[in-house]
Amino acid sequence: MRILLVSPKKTELDESVPGWLRMPQLSLSIIAALTPRGHEVVIAEEEDGPLPVEDQWDVVGITSMTATAPRAYELSLLFRNRGARVVLGGIHPSVLPEEAAQYADAVVVGEAEGLWPQVLFDIKHNRLKKVYRNWQPDISDSPLPVRKKKRSILGFPPVVMPIMFSRGCPNDCEFCCVHRVYGRRQRFIPIESIVKDIAQSGSTKLLFLDDNIGGVRPYALKLFKALEPLRVIWGGQASARLILDDELFRAAVRSGCRALFIGVETIELAARRKLRKSLSTISLYEEAIKRCRESGVLFHGSFIFGLDEESPDVFERTLDFLLRNNVPSIASNILTPYPGTYLFDRLMREGRILHTNWSYYDHGTVSFEPKNMHPEELSEKYLDFTERFYSLSSIRRRAWAQLRVKPLMFLGMNIAFRRVIRVNREHARKYFKWLREEAGRLSTPVVEPPEAMSRKGEYADRERLLLPPVP
Ligand code: SF4
Repeated sequence: MRILLVSPKKTELDESVPGWLRMPQLSLSIIAALTPRGHEVVIAEEEDGPLPVEDQWDVVGITSMTATAPRAYELSLLFRNRGARVVLGGIHPSVLPEEAAQYADAVVVGEAEGLWPQVLFDIKHNRLKKVYRNWQPDISDSPLPVRKKKRSILGFPPVVMPIMFSRGCPNDCEFCCVHRVYGRRQRFIPIESIVKDIAQSGSTKLLFLDDNIGGVRPYALKLFKALEPLRVIWGGQASARLILDDELFRAAVRSGCRALFIGVETIELAARRKLRKSLSTISLYEEAIKRCRESGVLFHGSFIFGLDEESPDVFERTLDFLLRNNVPSIASNILTPYPGTYLFDRLMREGRILHTNWSYYDHGTVSFEPKNMHPEELSEKYLDFTERFYSLSSIRRRAWAQLRVKPLMFLGMNIAFRRVIRVNREHARKYFKWLREEAGRLSTPVVEPPEAMSRKGEYADRERLLLPPVP
């Protein structure tokens, strides 16, 4: 069969991120590797250019996150109209299979390992089921991902290669569904396979997509030891505990670690407790930031705004924390109640979800009613905060402290995020216009919310579901 594997284009906000800074795609490479011999497989990422919709495909597999779900559904209808059987998978169809099933021939809930060949077999024998479920399969004998040739930049190979060592996360953060979809027990790809994959690809710059690369200490130590002779440099997501663990951090640095993405989330103590962040005091993060700086590792902190325990002054205090500690770069996010999370369930129960137009579930848009701020106030303060952190004077000031961090990495991250801010502001303007028109009840933009303003029911007339029409 002719099989097309597609990742739909991202949201307006994601599109503003330069190509080299985008989170590279790995899931389609894994599915391509799981496809039995005898089929022709083509991988197409929509953000790389137009999809081959005019070609004849027997099967189209589309992976989707929440923000890309509406586009995935559009594409699904398009390919089905052209005679292909469409299978939807990924995190969003996994948490809302009934919704996804309305737009596709079949939905894969969970992970593809051990299941994808069965789906193809069923298509071939005309006995495709509507929903396939496959929770947390063994990934220890997964084949190596089929590496798609990416665009090169000025004739150089792609900047980073995405790779994954483990799936699952032992934590259970309210705003995240990783632990609900991939489980709280981490499962691992054998280290020999990781080494072979790197060696075959010839890539020397890696980005580990694991949710917590140091989550299981003995495995992480073994991985770092195996990476050492390969002379690669790598970045990945981790807990600050990795940095505070002397032996583990030294092993990571020796193995080529040059950037760590750390979910600090908030400096607000009460909010940290509620999130069950394992490091309760923010001073431990200060120590982690210092250690990274001294070891030449870029500390990329992730922050969330809009938590119930946060008041409007959290922005000022967070900026002060970041500048005082010369944090090299950050990802600032607005709390987003993704479906499939406990947060979504709670806010839905409390009547605080503004709409379910998933394309606005992009971690930069307010899609719920915050507790201590008006939605527009949260958005405005978030934009102002991000602009100030990435202002030229702030970049200059923080640059002096990064003498051991790779200068191109520091500058690249800061310049790229400055670019994103401009798009963010325009995006927020259009979003609130849409929200006002849809809801018809949001009055003038609010910077300081009047005490008496009742937010409850302010968007009462909102459409709950705004998705492409079901055929
Ligand atoms: S946010 Fe990170 S640490 Fe928390 S559950 Fe998700 S992956 Fe795990």
